[in-house]
Amino acid sequence: MSSARRRPKFPSPALPSFDEAAALVAASAAKILRARRGQCNAGIERVRLDQALGRVVALPLLADADQPAFARSTRDGFACRAEEASRYVPLAVAGSTRAGQSPSGPLPRGSAWEIMTGAPVPEGADAVVMLEHVEEVGIPSRSGADRAIRLLPSRTLERGDNIMARGAQARKGDKLLSAGVLIAPAQIALAGSCGATALDVFRKPRVAILSTGDELVPIGSTPGPSQIRNSSSAMLAAMVKDAGGDPWILPIARDTTKSLDAAIGRAATADLVLITGGVSAGQFDLVEPALLRAGARFHFTGVRIQPGKPLVFGEVPSSRTDSVQNQGSAKCYCFGLPGNPVSSAVTFLLFAAPVVAALAGRSEFGARFALARLSEAVKTKTGLTRFLPAVCTFAGPVPEVALVSWQGSGDLAAMARANCFLVVPEDADRLAAGSTVRILLP
Ligand code: AMP
Ligand code: MG
Repeated sequence: MSSARRRPKFPSPALPSFDEAAALVAASAAKILRARRGQCNAGIERVRLDQALGRVVALPLLADADQPAFARSTRDGFACRAEEASRYVPLAVAGSTRAGQSPSGPLPRGSAWEIMTGAPVPEGADAVVMLEHVEEVGIPSRSGADRAIRLLPSRTLERGDNIMARGAQARKGDKLLSAGVLIAPAQIALAGSCGATALDVFRKPRVAILSTGDELVPIGSTPGPSQIRNSSSAMLAAMVKDAGGDPWILPIARDTTKSLDAAIGRAATADLVLITGGVSAGQFDLVEPALLRAGARFHFTGVRIQPGKPLVFGEVPSSRTDSVQNQGSAKCYCFGLPGNPVSSAVTFLLFAAPVVAALAGRSEFGARFALARLSEAVKTKTGLTRFLPAVCTFAGPVPEVALVSWQGSGDLAAMARANCFLVVPEDADRLAAGSTVRILLP
């Protein structure tokens, strides 16, 4: 306990700014990513396509054939020669092809071919005119057809219009998905179009979640008069999953060196350790010294942000040798997140989520920010970058953001009413109504 380090109560110039701390985390994340890329089969697993949502591509997906494999019509209409149609003369309808029918043609001179979206364009045609851009007209003599169409005088047609040429999207063997890409529905569709029923993805990193505090009881228990439920472990587990990790909730650690040392020793078998609580300047804030005893090297111990100023980020030697980020000299990244739930959530989104994403192999690992219009003026103090619970509505032409009223960083109810955090720059004491502001997205 006596080894507890004290930090100054007020922001000291020695603490990194938000941008500086974010850059330190980004540098570590980039290092993690390079190590993951260098990995062979140990860090990779194969998952069925219907299980691949939210996973990260580890081995590239190559096109199994030209895409599209045949010149296809992108419209319902008439395949024709653009040059003939552009003379606005009647074109006899020489045939018809529906999607799924085999390629037909060749297209006789001076004629058009009825075609549906997705159907192969008949040989000889170089454009498709949309159904809505033609009129039915009298049949030209000696055509033998029973229908004819003509391009409407108000319309024009160029070669290539409404035809997707063979291989226009990709050639056989082209790389369609690169390592590091997050698999969303679009990537699943693309893999499916290549006949991939399974994908090679990075193994999920294991993220230990260790809540500390003598006042905490498990969420299934009834708290005593001065106790609270450990809501943060459950919240962080959900956030870890969202970021691409596999959460591992450890039993609550008590505010004693013995309990903390044992728990950190166990947690350091994971790829990343998230500890909550015990990082402020109080007498029972023992996490930082416990991490030091475990051999930690810190990148920073405190950031000029609010909430979340006491945040700690570093590395401890891993107790395991097959951790996903580093097979040889295994180390384990660690965060000491401040105990208040809103502080834990904000610091996770800003700093821990990028590390989880990089450990998961994602090329894009940064926190997500967006711009919105502030609906009501906000007054704060300078000196810290602030992240305040807010609601952003996306219904109008421009996202509109407003603060939710809150009682400070223990206010879980306020956080549950919010869907983002308003970012107030360090040097701003006021943000005007109607101004464009940054928001941090979950
Ligand atoms: P600490 O950072 O340990 O001083 O904790 C700050 C505040 O956050 C205290 O009021 C704690 O009771 C609360 N807190 C700490 N850990 C948790 C947790 N796991 N779940 C909910 N609240 C917590
Ligand atoms: Mg505590």
